Amino acid sequence: MDKQAYRIAVLPGDGIGPEVMREALRVLEAVAVRFDVCFQFDEQPVGGAAIDVMGSALPEVTLMACEKAEAILFGSVGGPKWESLPPDEQPERGALLPLRKHFGLFANLRPSICFPSLAKASPIRHDIVGDGFDVLCVRELTGGIYFGEPKEIRDDINGRVAVDTMIYHESEIERIAHVAFNSATGRRNKVTSIDKANVLRNGILWRETVEAVAENYPDVQLEHLYVDNAAMQLIRRPRDFDVILAPNLFGDILSDEMAMITGSLGMLASSSLGKDKGGGLYFGMYEPSGGSAPDIAGQGVANPCAQILSAALLLRYSLGLTSAADTIDCAVREAIDAGMRTGDIFTGEKDTKKVTTAVMGEAILAAINEGN
Ligand code: NAD
Repeated sequence: MDKQAYRIAVLPGDGIGPEVMREALRVLEAVAVRFDVCFQFDEQPVGGAAIDVMGSALPEVTLMACEKAEAILFGSVGGPKWESLPPDEQPERGALLPLRKHFGLFANLRPSICFPSLAKASPIRHDIVGDGFDVLCVRELTGGIYFGEPKEIRDDINGRVAVDTMIYHESEIERIAHVAFNSATGRRNKVTSIDKANVLRNGILWRETVEAVAENYPDVQLEHLYVDNAAMQLIRRPRDFDVILAPNLFGDILSDEMAMITGSLGMLASSSLGKDKGGGLYFGMYEPSGGSAPDIAGQGVANPCAQILSAALLLRYSLGLTSAADTIDCAVREAIDAGMRTGDIFTGEKDTKKVTTAVMGEAILAAINEGN
């Protein structure tokens, strides 16, 4: 019988994007052999690289490749070369936002993992970080105050006035809450829902809706925190959190706070989920949390872990290849535990070695091939 072939749109983009994507594709090829599946990579230009050759950050051919795929593996876009273009033609606004909109990517999942052997890289006190933490931020991505109408700056009799509208439909809250509860199942079974129900009507509807969804998940513990308190508690006791569920604005801020306290941007993966394919699987776009890092691009020193862990999220959330995803996660952890460090996570600790992008990729590949 033919093995199942999964089509993946691969958009390396700019700066360190192509360098780290190369390692992620090698890792995917290795797990394909180990788990007897087949990946078809459809590689297309995006961002500045696409502007240079095709005149647009998101060419039609790239969008078509994404439409035909099960999921998108995205690198990063942008850089000084394209900063003088009109804002809507620049790599990020011209590619990333249209992709999110086109595919209705409503759920942003960002695992904030502080690996035990990288705990010293966290700016948080060692007695608080302990041997690390693992928090998943689930952020609503297509609603709330970022998109509500009216949204304008206008003149009135007292001068200029700015209006943004925070609006959530119950169905939007239900949809993202299911993603959070499903994610908590199989982790540590706890969801912390974030709102501002003491001030905002949005917060009241958010809280009531999340509580109703929670009834479908009796094994998952639900707690509510006001966003201001959550910002403090995440720093005071990050190890107590499992899944954080937040509306767009609050999730934007808290997920960056979590990224910061892990201490290593180059390790952080991210996924943006759209159409529900059934069985807990979604169409999605997977990318590192960081950008194109123009300061180190072309030097072969970028950390490929975020891109590789993004590929693992793709296998988990879009293809349902859980064992293959677990294998990648373990292999990254093994390489880190063995002392491999790219420049961004190198602190000179005993038994660690500063390595290039390719050597880090090799170490992860070796862990996969050795069968962790
Ligand atoms: P950045 O995330 O690219 O870089 C911030 C710092 O983190 C830099 O010092 C960089 O060297 C380091 N860094 C990031 N990823 C790393 C990795 N994998 N390994 C080692 N070090 C890493 O943020 P920036 O400098 O603000 O933005 C640079 C460009 O990237 C800009 O054009 C920006 O618009 C774009 N950007 C793109 C995305 C995206 O494609 N999703 C996201 C953020 C920024």
